[in-house]
Amino acid sequence: MEQRESAVSSADVTGNSNGDLDALVVGAGFGGIAAAIELRRHGFERVRILEKAPDLGGTWFYNSYPGAACDVPSHLYSFSFAQRRDWTRLCSPQEEIHDYLRAVAEEHGIVPLIDTGVEVTECAWQDADSRWLVLARDGRRYGACALIVATGQLHQPAFPKIPGIETFAGHSFHSSAWDHDYPMSGRRVGVVGTGASAVQFVPEIAPEVERLTVFQRTGNWFLPRKNRRYPAAWRAAIERVPGLQDFRRQFMFQYAESLTAAIRHPATFGRVSGARSAAFMRSQLQDEDVRERVWPDYTFGCKRILFSSRFLPALQRSNVELVTDAIVSVQPEGLLTEAGTLHPADCIVWATGFRTNDFMFPMRITGSGGRELDDVWRDGAHAHLGITVPGFPSMFILYGPNTNTSGGSIIFYLEQQTAYARQALEAVRRRGAAAIDVREEVEAASDRETQAAFAGTAWTECDSWYRNDAGRIVANWPGYMRQYLQRTRTIDEREFVFLGADGAEGSGAIANGSAPEAERVAGAPAQALGSDA
Ligand code: NAP
Repeated sequence: MEQRESAVSSADVTGNSNGDLDALVVGAGFGGIAAAIELRRHGFERVRILEKAPDLGGTWFYNSYPGAACDVPSHLYSFSFAQRRDWTRLCSPQEEIHDYLRAVAEEHGIVPLIDTGVEVTECAWQDADSRWLVLARDGRRYGACALIVATGQLHQPAFPKIPGIETFAGHSFHSSAWDHDYPMSGRRVGVVGTGASAVQFVPEIAPEVERLTVFQRTGNWFLPRKNRRYPAAWRAAIERVPGLQDFRRQFMFQYAESLTAAIRHPATFGRVSGARSAAFMRSQLQDEDVRERVWPDYTFGCKRILFSSRFLPALQRSNVELVTDAIVSVQPEGLLTEAGTLHPADCIVWATGFRTNDFMFPMRITGSGGRELDDVWRDGAHAHLGITVPGFPSMFILYGPNTNTSGGSIIFYLEQQTAYARQALEAVRRRGAAAIDVREEVEAASDRETQAAFAGTAWTECDSWYRNDAGRIVANWPGYMRQYLQRTRTIDEREFVFLGADGAEGSGAIANGSAPEAERVAGAPAQALGSDA
């Protein structure tokens, strides 16, 4: 790969390393805020969060489309240390989640640490003085002992490469940048994509628009989700009965783990859940033609299971048309499909998801020796437990490679990751070292173990956004939430080397541990990944 010249150099930053931040966090979504809370609680005072958007929230700031909500119940889709009893419904709408995150940030004094409107373009590790230098688009520069990348997997919108896309004469936008000023009422709207976002907003806009054309490339498996407001009596019970909400959180945790079991074991548990999904879908699909065309032709759980009791009925409305013919081009008047039909549209909503495999794109990250992360990840992203990458000292990724969940709550994973990163930085401090770097052989072995754990699971049985072009699954964790907890609960310092202020290996008051024995590295822990014990 062509070596680009770095725009960051030590000399550009005013102050010396004593003035550096303890940690610089990129992204003020759930991950970035969790990281700042965790670090501050444990004595890392100098923390700064840089956020590109004008507000905190990450995905819950950007995704404000009609009907936007989480399909993971809020008692699980919330921090363990900031539980609430006043959720208005099982799965909270976007605004409620955004308000919750803001409230938690305020309660923990995090808001003043966030610089909004600051887009990070480059992060570069400086071997000479063991620190990260971070450059923002507006020219600001920051020095930090540690870098926490909390930009998430679902961040950069993906647009399909359809010829003529720029020639469309009407209005268009991506579902994650909803144009609330555009009146949908009385318009002909085309929606491209039928993933988790589309199934939430299609039922909302269908009654409003004159005509809705939904372009589906692949059908989905559905499970019910009504998500009505809690009745007053139920809310009162949750607020007043001690332990009720905790019990529900535990219950949801186990339910989420059972979804993972269905995906891990497609021939057994997966069959049972698939049959439940099929029965539900049949009950919703009276229109035989629609039923035939939405029916998925792949194993239950391979793609994301969608939770909606309103999407399939919406497809059967008289003003809604489901098109399963491939789109061949965009014309000024609408979308042309393979059968030669032009579907006219005043507005196109691209519900075509995110560039999940690109992770931190377009941010440029260079590690020790000027190595580009892009280069290291040329064949697909990988990181030890999704968090650390060899040669990128004291860099911690949140919601990194292979830590997405198909069944559980990403908040659970983020909490483990932030505690793990904090333990790493505590070890650095305790040893009087300057930085921590995961051993190459440890990362390689854990990556092999992660990839091997996908064998026989539903995830391997179709194409999805969990995989890169070569077919490698780079997004998802192959196991259960409890296994991720077990793996990340306590950092194994022998898996790392500690660097001195001069970048040399092996400094620090306590000697570096020797590398864990091969058997341990190769993944023979107490409970093997992928086992159901
Ligand atoms: P997505 O799941 O990636 O769905 C994108 C859709 O666009 C798919 O239906 C895809 O079809 C379709 N598509 C892509 N290119 C196309 C083309 N050229 N022609 C026709 N269709 C095309 O994206 P998303 O719905 O925005 O959701 C992304 C992720 O965000 C979800 O999987 C989920 O993790 C998260 N999310 C979560 C919630 C929640 O409630 N927790 C809500 C919304 C989103 P194929 O299936 O054929 O690829």
